[in-house]
Amino acid sequence: MAQLLQESGYQPAENPIEANFLIVNTCGFICPAIKESLHELNELAAHKTKGQVLIAAGCLTQRIGGDIAKQEPGIDGILGTRRWMDIVEVVERLRSGRYPKPIYHLPPSPTIGKDERGVHRVAIQGGSAYLKIADGCRRPCAFCTIPSIKGTIVSRPIKAILEEARYLQKLEVRELILIAQDTTDYGHDLGLQDGLVQLLEQLTTTVPEISWIRIMYTYPGFVTDRLIETMATYQQIVPYLDMPLQHAHPSTLRRMRRPTNMEWVSRTVEKMRASMPDLALRTTFIVGYPGETEEEFQVLLNFMDEIRFDRVGAFQFSFETGTASEALGDSVPAKLKQERYERLMEHQQTISLEKNLSMVGKTLDVLVEGYGDGLSIGRSYRDAPEIDGLVIVQDSLPIGEICTVRVTGAMTYDLNGVLETKQE
Ligand code: SF4
Repeated sequence: MAQLLQESGYQPAENPIEANFLIVNTCGFICPAIKESLHELNELAAHKTKGQVLIAAGCLTQRIGGDIAKQEPGIDGILGTRRWMDIVEVVERLRSGRYPKPIYHLPPSPTIGKDERGVHRVAIQGGSAYLKIADGCRRPCAFCTIPSIKGTIVSRPIKAILEEARYLQKLEVRELILIAQDTTDYGHDLGLQDGLVQLLEQLTTTVPEISWIRIMYTYPGFVTDRLIETMATYQQIVPYLDMPLQHAHPSTLRRMRRPTNMEWVSRTVEKMRASMPDLALRTTFIVGYPGETEEEFQVLLNFMDEIRFDRVGAFQFSFETGTASEALGDSVPAKLKQERYERLMEHQQTISLEKNLSMVGKTLDVLVEGYGDGLSIGRSYRDAPEIDGLVIVQDSLPIGEICTVRVTGAMTYDLNGVLETKQE
């Protein structure tokens, strides 16, 4: 949206007070995200000056539709998912003053989307960019609102993705992060077999100057031998894999309507580690899912000991109306959810520190993202932006460059290091 607006002559403002148009790209997939989105809209509406226009876009608008204007009457325009590409049209209509407010620009169903194949790109600071390869999801996870908000998977054609990657290469982006609700399902709707593998193979030849390609959000059961082989073959594809598992006890997973075959997970991790000895494995878990017993939770902790993930994210179950798990209620008390969350995080902290300590003395390529006071911060292949750790280097290094760093110290999540040499 930012890019489309800039292409039409609009400029980003430094802060809300200077802006003519205030656009909030909301999130609505769990209650805490809804609260945060509404809080932001309420704040902006309360401080809106005469002539300023407030637009709500994104998932929350799609989830609750016109009700969003009841929650915040100061909203002037409402833009649904898969309508984001109409942002300029909505802004122009609001500018004209010829339409009654609020302007609703919502598809009746998220699956009735517009063609998203046109090039769209989001570069983030520090030489890294997200590359969205598909949107929507056809998995049946009982706790999840995303398929109802976004609709089923719609993959972007390989040609459009490659075009965008080429553009990002021209901008000297050093890292491409492939995202979708489920990257392993890429191309299913296009009739592709092993679509993600095909895409990766073509990406590596199309953008050889982009040093790192990172795969996020894979689905258990669909990390194929061919995908593992492809990751191990191409140096550009970093040996990092994010595979959200959500739980490890088959009964909990069954209630979640998620794959229950934990033997498959153990076997696949073994295969991956055999072909990529430096593999950094990330997962996420939900604690306090309806009916989760102490025994089920303990199985999850034991599984974490067995696999020893490099990175773990955890969430407390959020009860969402309209999901399949609504019928199960919200049986685990909030206090117990919090307690399990803390136990799980502490459990992982021990593993994470041990893993980080084993890095001391080794060298790592680090993508520099910021500096100040004689220190630089960056990330190695082991860290995805915002969710994983950092490498802190005792030097002022150029932002957006990849530098080789010798690891000199380890903390629970982050590493310390000194510059070794700069990569040519
Ligand atoms: S795979 Fe992810 S996005 Fe899709 S339904 Fe499951 S949790 Fe939701």
